[in-house]
Amino acid sequence: MARIREGKKGYVVTPNSEIVYMARSDEHLKKLLNAAALVLPDGIGVIHAAKILKKPLTEKVAGIEFATSLMEAMAKEGRSIFLFGAKPGIAEKAAENLKQKYPGLIVTGCRDGYFKDDAEAVRDINAAGHSDVILVCLGAPKQEIFMEQHLDELNGTMLCGLGGSLDVYAG
Ligand code: UDP
Repeated sequence: MARIREGKKGYVVTPNSEIVYMARSDEHLKKLLNAAALVLPDGIGVIHAAKILKKPLTEKVAGIEFATSLMEAMAKEGRSIFLFGAKPGIAEKAAENLKQKYPGLIVTGCRDGYFKDDAEAVRDINAAGHSDVILVCLGAPKQEIFMEQHLDELNGTMLCGLGGSLDVYAG
C-alpha cells in the first residue's frame, strides 16, 4: 500500500513450488521473479524448501488471500483496480461482485485474458486511464512474463499476477 500511495511502480508474484522449480533452469524467469516488488510463497512446498535451505519463511500466503487483503485496504482509501485475465465475461462478473463486497473500491475496467498480441491487451488496459493496481490473471508463468515485459508502458502502479483469482471472485 505504501508503494501504491507513492506511485512507485512494480509487480507482485506469488510463486508455488512448480514455478520456483521452473526458475532453476530458466534464467529469465528467475531474474523476473527476483525483480518483483513483492514475492509471496504460494505453496507449502516453497515453505518446506526454504526451511531445508535454512532460510525459513514465515508462512504460506495464497494469492487469493493476498488479493482479498489488498482489496480491503484499497477500498478504505478509494483506490482503483483494473481486472485483466480469464475467459470473456469473467472479469466483468468479478467486478460486480467485488464492487458489492468492497464499497469504495473503484474498478477502472475489465479485459479478458485471450488476445492476439500483447500490444492489443496493453492498449485496452491503458484505455481505462490510470489504475492503482492491475490484476494480471493469465496463469503462471505467462502473467509474470507479461508484467515484467510491459511494466513501464502499462498505466498502473502495482501489477499483481494472481492466476485463477478472477474465476474465484466471479464465483
Ligand atoms: N488464462 C488467460 N489467458 C490465457 C491462459 C489462461 O486469461 O492465455 C486464464 C484462465 O482463464 C484462468 C487463469 O488464467 O482464469 C489461470 O488460472 P489457473 O488457476 O490455471 O492459474 P494458476 O493460479 O494455477 O497459475
